Amino acid sequence: MKALGIMGGTFDPIHYGHLVAAEGVRHEFKLDKVIFVPSGRPPHKADNRITGPTHRLAMTELATASNPYFEVSSLEVNRPGLSYTIDTVLDFRSMYEPSELYFITGGDALLEILTWKDVDMLFSLCKFIGVTRPGYSFDNLGEKIPGLSADYINKIHIMEVPALAISSTDIRGRIRSGRPIKYLLPETVEHYISSCRLYR
Ligand code: ATP
Ligand code: MG
Repeated sequence: MKALGIMGGTFDPIHYGHLVAAEGVRHEFKLDKVIFVPSGRPPHKADNRITGPTHRLAMTELATASNPYFEVSSLEVNRPGLSYTIDTVLDFRSMYEPSELYFITGGDALLEILTWKDVDMLFSLCKFIGVTRPGYSFDNLGEKIPGLSADYINKIHIMEVPALAISSTDIRGRIRSGRPIKYLLPETVEHYISSCRLYR
């Protein structure tokens, strides 16, 4: 395995914002694979508000099935305890021995990077690709993330992707209030959500 991308997220549910970002990065950085890793128990989100991992994993699999460069890993879902990116990066390094390892993240998540567990080790093990997301800007990263060293800033690539103002939070709200979610996520996922009666 040469260049590998990790797309982490809660994917509750997965939507076109995630998919467009991952595919754009895959092409631009000539990645051999992008592995979607649904979080088991994200430390920054309350447990009781997250859909069970089996559903989130199934939706991620449905959404990525038609792209030969995309894969889904159940690594975090199956790991006991809170899900930390550092553990995933360490596991992927030993499993795939990639020549390059990139962690893909949207603007909102990137701005919190210094709060991630073992951030120094993380920066030594992978590079980050910050994809643009409506509502978040990457201008003056050093100012926006106080304490982020120039060395770390150099390890963060910023990539402009088509702006999709789609979020899982909005999709869940739409379902609750009976508004359409069509064209915001793949039809296969839409059907899964309605047949399992999720987010009502
Ligand atoms: P929620 O509203 O529940 O937080 P979300 O839409 O933010 O859901 P996550 O699973 O939290 O989705 O996000 C996973 C990763 O994908 C994060 O790095 C996030 O910044 C990025 N991402 C999510 N939506 C978009 C989008 N529309 N454009 C670019 N990146 C996105
Ligand atoms: Mg989010």
